[in-house]
Amino acid sequence: MSQVGTVEAGSRHDLRVGKSPDAPDEGAFHDEQAGAFGYVHSYETSSRYDGPGLRAVLFVSGCLLRCSYCHNPDTWHLKDGTYVSAQQVIDRLSSFAPALRALDGGLTISGGEPMVQIDFTRRIFAAARQMGLHTAIQTSGFLGDRADDGFLSCLDLVLLDIKSSDPDTYRKVTGRELAPTLRFAERLAAAGKPVWVRFTLVPGATDDPANVEGIARFVAPMKNVAWVEVQPFHQLGAFKWKAMNLEYKHVDTSRPTPELVNRVIGQFRAAGCNAR
Ligand code: SF4
Repeated sequence: MSQVGTVEAGSRHDLRVGKSPDAPDEGAFHDEQAGAFGYVHSYETSSRYDGPGLRAVLFVSGCLLRCSYCHNPDTWHLKDGTYVSAQQVIDRLSSFAPALRALDGGLTISGGEPMVQIDFTRRIFAAARQMGLHTAIQTSGFLGDRADDGFLSCLDLVLLDIKSSDPDTYRKVTGRELAPTLRFAERLAAAGKPVWVRFTLVPGATDDPANVEGIARFVAPMKNVAWVEVQPFHQLGAFKWKAMNLEYKHVDTSRPTPELVNRVIGQFRAAGCNAR
């Protein structure tokens, strides 16, 4: 059993490792305490990028994907996160709630993958809702089958990463299968749940026109998708791979040029998506 610590403010760009060496493996995690405790990387209090308005963003630990361009490999393992009580997170959030409400914002839970610790995530979203906060989850959708209707009802917005439309490319860049993400997207569309699709544009990995076209054609008919956001690859996480002694395939990958970004946004718009 991990020692209960204190949830730390900071930034997604801070390196946090080895905080809970006794934590279980994220792939075999069974939450016997129904989300009363969880493993957390950090939180930010003033993001403008993770949903509408001003957001508090909680970065939870644990992810089953291994994206080759991941900016936060220190969120993959529960053992790297700090073990905290949900109540502590909720108490902290309540002190920011008036400012978040006043600035039309709310709470975003990101990671890692928030559905690894779905009961912990659910508990915090439920409390945020009681505070009158808008709620958003940032997810790859890979564990979407874990989200029951009660969980979805706690969410005002899903920020859904679709990393590729091609199963082989998806497997190559994430190490996992594409189908669960598409299944989750279709379920959200059927439920009319608001979604912003996010696509990370990585030169040489995800920028193939046919790959972009496939996502655009899949998303365009979905009336619940308000935005497709093209997120240019950057190197801000490269130092984490080095510090964690992980093999990083994108040492020489450049940031996408403005022309490439415009081409990709243009492809989404041409298919009928609101893209930015
Ligand atoms: S899903 Fe997100 S946190 Fe997980 S490996 Fe991919 S980029 Fe990293």
